[in-house]
Amino acid sequence: MRKPIGISACLLGTNCRFDGGNCEIPDIHSWPHEWVPVCPEIAGGLPTPRVPAELTRSTNEIISNGSGVINRRREDVSHHFISGSKASLETMKSKGCETVILKSHSPSCGFGLVYDGHFTGKLIERNGIFAQMCVDAGLQVLSSEDMSTFLKVAP
Ligand code: SF4
Repeated sequence: MRKPIGISACLLGTNCRFDGGNCEIPDIHSWPHEWVPVCPEIAGGLPTPRVPAELTRSTNEIISNGSGVINRRREDVSHHFISGSKASLETMKSKGCETVILKSHSPSCGFGLVYDGHFTGKLIERNGIFAQMCVDAGLQVLSSEDMSTFLKVAP
């Protein structure tokens, strides 16, 4: 029996992005998977739409120090990102998810590459807060940028 797969809710079509939109993967609702959607930023109490935020220091430093996710208004919103990511990870565990597919480049869900903290559109090697927590918990993390790998893992 297939295990349920965790997924960024915006990839399933939920309008939870900072701009009020989504990034629905075409035809995803016809795929034969049980999805467990989460949006760590909404789970952390942020509204939609919301002021965009980026990571201004290493992900592990942000998680351990509780600061460093800064939005365009120069407000530190780390506690929303951290608490929402923790809650979303608990959801993954409680539903038995061993794999998560996460929206690329997001300060929460980005895996491998996120924006560099200066709002210039430049990407750097770093995981988002939720992606890092999933890695640390031993989940298999796949980026929405890499659907071919995902299809090999969970055809
Ligand atoms: S936090 Fe994740 S699930 Fe929520 S909108 Fe951003 S990328 Fe999508």
